[in-house]
Amino acid sequence: DRHMALIKDEDIQLVRERVRIDEIVEQYVTLKNAGGGARKGLCPFHDEKSPSFTVRPAQGFYHCFGCGVGGDSITFLREIEGLSFAEAVERLAAKTGVNLRYEEEDSTRPKRDAGQRQRLLDAHREASEFYAHQLGTSPEAAVGRQFVQDRGFDQTAAERFGMGWAPRGGEALVAHLRAKGFGDEDLVVGGLAARGSRGLYDKFRGRLLWPIREISGEVVGFGARRMFDDDRVEAKYLNTAETPIYKKSQVLYGLDLARRSISSQSQAVIVEGYTDVMACHQAGITTAVATCGTAFGEGHTRILRRLMLDNDAFRGEVVFTFDGDEAGRRAAMKAFTGDQQFVAQTYVAVEPRGMDPCDLRLADGDAAVRDLIASRVPLYRFVLKNTLAKFDLDRGDQRVDAVREAVALASSIRDRAKVEEFLREISSLVGVDVDHVRAELQRSNAQGKAGSGAVNRRGPAQPVQPDTQSAPQENITAGFGAPGLSDEREALKVII
Ligand code: ZN
Repeated sequence: DRHMALIKDEDIQLVRERVRIDEIVEQYVTLKNAGGGARKGLCPFHDEKSPSFTVRPAQGFYHCFGCGVGGDSITFLREIEGLSFAEAVERLAAKTGVNLRYEEEDSTRPKRDAGQRQRLLDAHREASEFYAHQLGTSPEAAVGRQFVQDRGFDQTAAERFGMGWAPRGGEALVAHLRAKGFGDEDLVVGGLAARGSRGLYDKFRGRLLWPIREISGEVVGFGARRMFDDDRVEAKYLNTAETPIYKKSQVLYGLDLARRSISSQSQAVIVEGYTDVMACHQAGITTAVATCGTAFGEGHTRILRRLMLDNDAFRGEVVFTFDGDEAGRRAAMKAFTGDQQFVAQTYVAVEPRGMDPCDLRLADGDAAVRDLIASRVPLYRFVLKNTLAKFDLDRGDQRVDAVREAVALASSIRDRAKVEEFLREISSLVGVDVDHVRAELQRSNAQGKAGSGAVNRRGPAQPVQPDTQSAPQENITAGFGAPGLSDEREALKVII
C-alpha cells in the first residue's frame, strides 16, 4: 500500500518547486492582483468581508493577515481538504506530473494510514463511476434514462453531470466496492451503505442519482430521486446525510462546473433542484447552482463571496429563482434579514406561471430560461411587494398599516442610500407621499430607541421631526399615481 510508504524528500521538494500556489488556491478562492506580485482574496479559513488572504506566487507562500494562517501549497491543500501530508503531496504530484518514489517502509516509525477523508473520497469516486455505468447500460435503468430524456436532457448532458443509476437489488454497490478493497466501516460512515440485520445494504436503491461534487470536482455525496411506486423510502429526493466529507450547509450542487463562470461573470444563480441546475447550464446560464436538501444559508454565502470578489469588494450579484409560492416568499424574507451587504446584491427571478427552470426550458426552450434570469428584480422590491400584497391599498387605514409594515423592512437596511431608494419605492407602491413614509420611519426608529433605552415606556415616543406631529395617521394622503385610486382618477378626468 503506497500510503504506508514514505515519500522521498527530493520528490517532495520537486513538487514544491513545480506547483504554482496561486493555481491551487484559485480552485477555492478568487484572487486579484494586489501589487508587488502578491495576490489577494477572501480567506477560506475565517469569515471576512474584505480580503486579507495574501498569496505570493513567487515565494510559494500564503498568509492571512486576518486570522494568521499561512504556509506553502502543501499546507494549504492539507488545511482546506483535511488531508494528511502524504495525501496532499500525492495530490499535487499528480497535478504537476511528478512521479513520486517511496522509501522502504521503516519499521521503527508508525505506519501511515491513508486518511479517512481520502478513503471516503475514493469510495465516492468509485461509486459514482459504478452508478454512471449502470445508468448507461443496465436494462432496469431504462426508466431512469427515460426520465432524463423526458426532462429534456441528452446523454451528453447526463454524462457531464455524472448522472447515475442505483440498482434496485440493494447489494450491488456494496459488492462492487468490497471487491475494490473498501472496508465496510468506510461505506457506512461515508453514507453509501447502511447496516441491516442481514449485513450491509446499499443506501440508494432503484433511484436516479446526481453525484454532488465539491468545488474541486470530488464527489462527496449523492442526490437520489424516487422512481418506483413501491420504493420503501417515501421521500421524492433522498440526499446523503451528513458525513465526515459531506456537509450540506457548505455544498452547492453544480459549483464545480459553475465556479469559473461565477468568478468571471460575478454572478451566481441559485435554483432549487438538480434538474434546474442542469437546465440552466444547458441553456447557457453556466453560473447556476443549487443547495442540496437545505435552505440557502451563511455557509453558502461565504463560498459565493470568495468566488465573486472583485477589486477588494464584493460586487457580484446573486439571483434567486423562486416559483413565487409561499415557501419562496418566506425564503426571500429570510434572506432579506440576513447579511446586509449580500442583500444589496441579491436579486429575485420569478416565473409568473410558477414554472421552475427545468419546466420552463421544456415548455419554451433555452431562450426562455435566459429571459427568466434577465428579468430579475432586486430582492428588496420583491419582498416589499409581497409585504404590501397583504393589504387592501384602496382603504386609508390599510394604507397606514401597509406603510408601517413596509417601513419596518426599511429599518433592517443599513446602507443609507439604499434606505432612501426603498422609501421612494414604498411611497409609489402604496400611493402615499414620500414625506409621510420618511416620517413613519423616523417615528418607528424613535420608538425603537425609546423602547430599548427603557426611558420612555409609557405612551408613544415623541416624534423626532415636528412634521410627523402634524401628520396623524388618518391623514396620510394617497398620491395621484396610487393604483387603488384608478376609479377616482378616471372620474376626475371625465369631470375635467
Ligand atoms: Zn484568515
